[in-house]
Amino acid sequence: MLSFILQKFSGRHHRKYVEKCRPLVARINEFEQGYQQLTDDQLRAKTNEFRARLQKGETLDAVLPEAFAAVKNAARRLFGKPVMVCDHELTWDMIHFDVQLIGGIALHEGRIAEMATGEGKTLVATLPLYLNALTGKNAQLVTVNDYLARRDSEWMGHLYRFLGLTVGCIQQQMHSENRREMYNCGITYGTASEFGFDYLRDNGMATRKEDQVQRDHFYCIVDEIDSILVDEARTPLIISGPAPIEREQPFTRLKPGVEQLVSAQLRLINKLVKEAADLLARPGVTPEERQDAAMKMLQVKLGMPKNKQLLRLQENAEWRKLLDKTDVEMHSDFNKTELYKYKEELFFVIDEKNHQADLTEIGRTKLQPDDPDAFTLPDLATIFIEIEKDTSKTPEQKEAAKREAQQRYEVVSEDIHALSQLLRAYSLYERDVEYVVQDGKVVIVDENTGRIMSGRRWSDGLHQAVEAKENVTIERETRTYATVTIQNYFRMYEKLAGMTGTAETEATEFHEIYRLSVTQIPTNKPCIRVDQNDSIFKTRRDKYGAVVKQIQEAQQRGQPVLVGTVTVEQSEVLSRMLKRANVIHTVLNAKFHQQEAEIVTRAGQRGSVTIATNMAGRGTDIKLGEGVRELGGLLVVGTERHESRRIDRQLRGRCSRQGDPGMTKFFLSLEDDLMRLFLQGNLASRIMEGAMKEGEELEHPWLNRSIESAQKKVEQQNFSQRKRLLQYDDVLNKQREVVYGIRNSTLHSDRPKDIIFEMIEEELAARLEAAGVGEKGGASAANIEGLVGWLNSHFPVSAKVTELADRNDFDALLKELVGRITKAYALKESVEDPAALGGLERYIVINAIDHHWQEHLTEMEELRRSIGLRSYGQKDPLSEYKGEAYRFFEELMNNVRLQICTSLFRSATNRDAFENLFAILSRSARLQGPASAPTALAAASQAAAPEGGAAVPRDAEPEIKLPSVTIRRETPKVGRNEPCPCGSGKKYKNCHGAA
Ligand code: ADP
Ligand code: MG
Repeated sequence: MLSFILQKFSGRHHRKYVEKCRPLVARINEFEQGYQQLTDDQLRAKTNEFRARLQKGETLDAVLPEAFAAVKNAARRLFGKPVMVCDHELTWDMIHFDVQLIGGIALHEGRIAEMATGEGKTLVATLPLYLNALTGKNAQLVTVNDYLARRDSEWMGHLYRFLGLTVGCIQQQMHSENRREMYNCGITYGTASEFGFDYLRDNGMATRKEDQVQRDHFYCIVDEIDSILVDEARTPLIISGPAPIEREQPFTRLKPGVEQLVSAQLRLINKLVKEAADLLARPGVTPEERQDAAMKMLQVKLGMPKNKQLLRLQENAEWRKLLDKTDVEMHSDFNKTELYKYKEELFFVIDEKNHQADLTEIGRTKLQPDDPDAFTLPDLATIFIEIEKDTSKTPEQKEAAKREAQQRYEVVSEDIHALSQLLRAYSLYERDVEYVVQDGKVVIVDENTGRIMSGRRWSDGLHQAVEAKENVTIERETRTYATVTIQNYFRMYEKLAGMTGTAETEATEFHEIYRLSVTQIPTNKPCIRVDQNDSIFKTRRDKYGAVVKQIQEAQQRGQPVLVGTVTVEQSEVLSRMLKRANVIHTVLNAKFHQQEAEIVTRAGQRGSVTIATNMAGRGTDIKLGEGVRELGGLLVVGTERHESRRIDRQLRGRCSRQGDPGMTKFFLSLEDDLMRLFLQGNLASRIMEGAMKEGEELEHPWLNRSIESAQKKVEQQNFSQRKRLLQYDDVLNKQREVVYGIRNSTLHSDRPKDIIFEMIEEELAARLEAAGVGEKGGASAANIEGLVGWLNSHFPVSAKVTELADRNDFDALLKELVGRITKAYALKESVEDPAALGGLERYIVINAIDHHWQEHLTEMEELRRSIGLRSYGQKDPLSEYKGEAYRFFEELMNNVRLQICTSLFRSATNRDAFENLFAILSRSARLQGPASAPTALAAASQAAAPEGGAAVPRDAEPEIKLPSVTIRRETPKVGRNEPCPCGSGKKYKNCHGAA
């Protein structure tokens, strides 16, 4: 068997891997043979035996041969037995093949096992999952959807349970008790987003450790890993809720102007495109006129890239070439000024590739005739300098003027952003293509699957812009409570592995981002699929005509056909054409995964025709019906090359599973997006443009390669975009690790007093330093006064100016102050309910973290956006972003610290505790003298006691009032985003600095 595998296996690297596994496979099979003599119970006892050996320090690798053998033997024992899967009865008919054992080894080693569709990856995963679950930690498997999580956990569950292991699966609507139960199983199946959201809820939302559901992030196998880590990873996981303060949304205000602008642009574009068409079609057109027409087409492309008439003009290969050539030429540096001139004849310019829209001068004037500068960012630096120079203003007036300028800047930049999003919404986003409107809501349509993505929203104001365009309610601005990207979620696992039929083309990405190497596992039986050359047509119409013909012929023979399309729209176009041609077929745009899976399962039956988007139905096996093998197996027809070769390979892989016959063929046209955008000026198009006539078909292996290299280019572009995004996300990810780390140790600590006191010490140190303690000359009297005021308003330590005035021994003073606070806290502890105190302390920390972290997330989003605006300058936006993000983070930690200081003595577990403490402290205060009022407590009486404890009623407030305290810092100016010096814990701009 293995030698056969080796023969047909060509790649040296992979051959080496298979070679390496060969002795191991032999050992597994030896053990398995031995196990055939055991009784069921004896086999089951192996599980505990392995566990015990691992406990004693044996490694997983050492146990692997026996553990894999046990799983394989269990499969043998199930053979022929009925098993229930998703309410259907199946007969268990699988015993691990050798190649499946090799796949299992690769998965255990934390690799990506590339195994073709139909090779039985579901079964492969049982081997390493069983082995790794023996450690007692949670072994997890990620599937592409909820249905498959349930199916695979139930199906493979028979095997695990036979061996005495528990298995669970997470489903979307599950409550947290169920989830916890599922994660407590040895093995857990679920989708990436469920796992990711559970992580976010556990670490960003849960306020008690009892509410957390996940155990650990130990070992995880991601099924269809490319789909999850490459395709799905484009949208991060976000838990959000309504924002606390509603900001004014400029969309409605700007919409009428934008509509005028868009219709003016449309009129202009229609005029231009008509002029271009007339010129081009005129017999005896001069070269100058041709050039003029070309520039007009280019203008149309700049102004409305999706203009239908322009697309029609481009059906003429000669004209298309003219436009492409002009486009390339005009975008060269040499022609910059001229291009600018042409752009300035439009009202706005749309950049299709970069998803951007910019107003031109006439656009600006049209929008705001009285004030064309309304949409130009003011130059803050210059304005500030001018304000400074203005001698007629007092310093306060200067400050006010600056603040005003800054506010205006913010308003204008928001407006510009909203405007750009509105222009995109009107020019690039088409209703019922990119989105639908349902029940007064704008709902995104996934361009690849056509699925309606309820609940998801475009970010960055685009969604609000589309809502404004469609006249539906603009949803309230939301605030992000917690967020993580799929990439960063999976990077947390101690060991990550993956399986898919198509990973090779993305091998670099997997390696660079996840340190995962791709290992190709040979197929069990040789693959005899025939991949035919692509057929290329001039127009889409011709292409679809040929597709329909091909389908008709196959159906007459009885050969089943699976047709893959890139978008749902295409599925529907094709479906209409097939209806007209009287071809009975099924279209797969199911909203439900189970249905989808059932349709795909039937796609191999005699005479069936199934149209599906390339992504739909992943993970479902297509078995050939009776007599289909003789007809050549399943015929897979691709109607367009996808941007990524991987998706095309995935489609091809749908046929010829397990040595079945099968054939694939792609039909393309010069009007396809991929061809249109990326074959520009390329050799292939040059050959085709002259030669091709309508209705003609072109086919050559050389063309396939040329198209593939175009795909490679796009793949690389997309990869570097993803990588770039990730670099930004890494910044936030590190911060999240720190914050969630503190949060989690707080949750899991019975008494997080240490954490609190660490924070207090840091805060004190910062304040002593700011006051100038320890410096030459020591702190000024004013600073000491401020320090004492702050101390007394936060902690009942009765600090006096006189005792601190002459102190310049930083370390000793710090230690002493912390000591006094510790003592005061001990007093508090003595009167508190000891059982409730831990809860109170946790509350203080968690509350401080959550409040400021959520605010921080929002600010980081804004930063991301503004960095985008700034990137027009010479600076590298990423390093700018990192620098700013670091400052934001410091500020966040300062705020958290400060809030903890503020709340420590202002909260109590119950009213009695509070009053007792107050009594003791007032007594000691009286003994010590009048100067030291226990002001922290006075303040406390205004604060509510959280968590179970009764709120301290206001009427219990003693007659001692908080003295109004002013802190003078080293740096007299307080930044808007710095904590307010009054000690409220709020930012200065939101507190005393509020305009
Ligand atoms: P993949 O995920 O690799 O595309 P699946 O796990 O869906 O493949 O399995 C495809 C089919 O192969 C299933 O119908 C399964 O029953 C069958 N299969 C898998 N392994 C074996 C085996 N060792 N012996 C017989 N049939 C198997
Ligand atoms: Mg599968």
